[in-house]
Amino acid sequence: MPLRFVIIGGGPAGNTAATWAARLGADVTMVERDIVGGAAHLWDCIPSKTMIATGGAMSFTRRIAGMGLEGVRAEVDMSGLKDRVEGIVTKLNTSIGQLLQSQHVRMIRGAARLEGPHRVVVETSTGEEEMVADAVLVASGSRPRIPDWCAPDGERILTTRQCYPPPTLPEHLVVIGSGVTGVEFVHMFSTLGSKVSLLVSRQQVLPSKDAEVAAALEEDFLRRGVSLLKGARAVAIERGEHEVRVHCEDGRLVAGSHALLAIGSVPNTEDLGLAAAGVEVDGGGYIPISQHCQSNVGHIYAAGDVSGKLPLSSVAAMQGRKVAEHVMGLHTLVHRHLDYDKAASAIFTEPEIADVGLAEADAFATGLRSA
Ligand SMILES: Cc1cc2nc3c(=O)[nH]c(=O)nc-3n(C[C@H](O)[C@H](O)[C@H](O)COP(=O)(O)OP(=O)(O)OC[C@H]3O[C@@H](n4cnc5c(N)ncnc54)[C@H](O)[C@@H]3O)c2cc1C
Repeated sequence: MPLRFVIIGGGPAGNTAATWAARLGADVTMVERDIVGGAAHLWDCIPSKTMIATGGAMSFTRRIAGMGLEGVRAEVDMSGLKDRVEGIVTKLNTSIGQLLQSQHVRMIRGAARLEGPHRVVVETSTGEEEMVADAVLVASGSRPRIPDWCAPDGERILTTRQCYPPPTLPEHLVVIGSGVTGVEFVHMFSTLGSKVSLLVSRQQVLPSKDAEVAAALEEDFLRRGVSLLKGARAVAIERGEHEVRVHCEDGRLVAGSHALLAIGSVPNTEDLGLAAAGVEVDGGGYIPISQHCQSNVGHIYAAGDVSGKLPLSSVAAMQGRKVAEHVMGLHTLVHRHLDYDKAASAIFTEPEIADVGLAEADAFATGLRSA
């Protein structure tokens, strides 16, 4: 009998594991609650890049004077932008579904949970279905973090997922959070024509990146009129009829037409029955994994954002592939281990930022580089 492999979550981690394991001969069932292709992937990553591309085109038209072209002007068409985002997401969702089908992966729409180390129960629209699994992959992804001092309303107080595009183009957007997501949203909305204020809780944007790189980005933001508020930690948001007011810990008050929360994500691990299966999570709700993406229960794997490694679609997909190979008894040797320190990442701003490997400051700190 082929190995019965059940995958919870159909994002980059889950769907890559599904197609690879099916190709290698496993009997694969993939359960997805929201959207095949992944909620973080298709409701955040892809739409954000789509809107950044539109902003990039707007920005280009502003620089076009002097190139021998006259009368080039662009205005944002919110409904056209919405159609474009939806079109791209639908195309990806359909093609991923077709790929899974072509590999004979069984797909179930519903919410899955573990009811023991080998038992998966799925709540579907027509009732519950139970399955026995020889191996399980938890690839349930993550969602935007919402602090207890704020209630997004989808109108003026927004999470990233409510921005593709928002109901109206913000006249003045206050972005809370200056990590990768925060700076990409500053770039996105300022190129689309919004005034933007950025709350930077520390003294530089991108606190985990190289200081020189962060300074170049700050310079670009200032050049195009973005207000940078350093050392500004948001602690409350008030909503009026036409404006929002963001209160900071040090008493500063920033008013705008809209506020955006870009303060990270939380793993979707609460309702999965992990305790019933004996799977441990850490203090943040992430599932610690071995080099083979195994949890503390050997046949239950975790990949993608729930694993607490680099939260990137590319990393999730590579982990999914590795899980499929390990489940099928391949690549168990040390030299096949994933090395997260060598994963490349990109930040879609102007200038674009890309990095791979150790940051220069970390190389000095660990003695790998000297002056
Ligand atoms: C604003 C933003 C921009 C980003 N930009 C980039 C980028 O440029 N490049 C990049 O590489 N990464 C980017 N990322 C990160 C990337 O989107 C994630 O790292 C990636 O989607 C993680 O894949 P995943 O499979 O773990 O999770 P997901 O894509 O979220 O898929 C997990 C799936 O599991 C499902 N699920 C959850 N619970 C259950 C359950 N109980 N039963 C069944 N299904 C369940 C969910 O519905 C979801 O569809 C971005 C993220 C954000 C928020």
